[in-house]
Amino acid sequence: MNPLVYDLPYDALRQRLVDMGEPAFRATQLYEWLYVHRVTSFAAMTNLPKALREKLAETFDVAAVRELQRQVSKDGTVKFLFALRDGNAIETVIMRHRYGNSVCVTTQVGCRIGCTFCASTIGGKVRDLSAGEIVAQVVEAQRFLDREGERASHVVVMGIGEPFENYEALMTFLSILNHDKGLNIGQRHITVSTSGIVPRIYDFADAKLQVKLAVSLHAPNDELRSCIMPINRRYPLAELMEACRYYVETTGRRITFEYAMLGGVNDRPEHAEELARLVGDLLCHVNLIPVNYVPERQYVRTPRDEIFRFQRILQRHGIPTTIRREHGSDIAAACGQLRAQHNRQKRRQAAVEGAR
Ligand code: SF4
Repeated sequence: MNPLVYDLPYDALRQRLVDMGEPAFRATQLYEWLYVHRVTSFAAMTNLPKALREKLAETFDVAAVRELQRQVSKDGTVKFLFALRDGNAIETVIMRHRYGNSVCVTTQVGCRIGCTFCASTIGGKVRDLSAGEIVAQVVEAQRFLDREGERASHVVVMGIGEPFENYEALMTFLSILNHDKGLNIGQRHITVSTSGIVPRIYDFADAKLQVKLAVSLHAPNDELRSCIMPINRRYPLAELMEACRYYVETTGRRITFEYAMLGGVNDRPEHAEELARLVGDLLCHVNLIPVNYVPERQYVRTPRDEIFRFQRILQRHGIPTTIRREHGSDIAAACGQLRAQHNRQKRRQAAVEGAR
């Protein structure tokens, strides 16, 4: 397997071409073919000399993902199950908003963080994705949107995996995504979500990007959070909040706290009061998430009126609070569900074949 051409940030690609004896402007031509025309082979890059196209095809791969399955929801949400070159399956989702189309990308095959409400962590982490494998998801989603004359205007790094556990690839991905000769998606239109990997929150703050940061909180105290998110035992709330404060002070940017509403677990009025005390003095926004039912997990959904009550309590404390709109509730749109189904089928098939 060759390296993926999508792995290379613009400057690295330019240097690589110069090293191959090519003029530096070839990098701009190549980037245009990849990210503006979105061709699927080097052979299609017709303004490059034939010898260079052949050399590139010997050196790099363009095809990073192959569509295994696609589900389209009544609300326009599109969920892709992609196979990577090594056969591992990942998910990518296009969500429709009033302000544009956002693409939710995966950063790891599986996840080792172990959040108890999440299907993606069943089976643990298999491997990290390369930067190019993350980039290719956006390119592929854009190819789908091209047929509608639409553009991927926003990207959320909230799919399978913990992006801050694959930090180097994440940062390379962000630079490719944002490059004006590439997909040119503005940093303010990109959100990275973490379960709370404290050292990387400091790094991310110091990187001084305009990219938005979301932190999955899901509980207002250590006892409850450690039950829901084992990562809290490694990075308890006091450390996490200190890192969040550093992020806000260093970047001047508002932080988003994600809070999955888990029926009877973290959704009572006293939890809302406790949450208000925890985050009330930070420049922040709370996003309440009605959870999707995950067959392998025990959680049930908080009734709608109780979610509103929870929101009102936070708002009374002056905390901007929204309720996440559901996307694709008629398809398996929650993180990891399609991949989990696919893996179950594969296991069943293997068992049947093994029994023959
Ligand atoms: S919610 Fe995110 S960090 Fe937590 S287990 Fe799922 S994929 Fe991993």
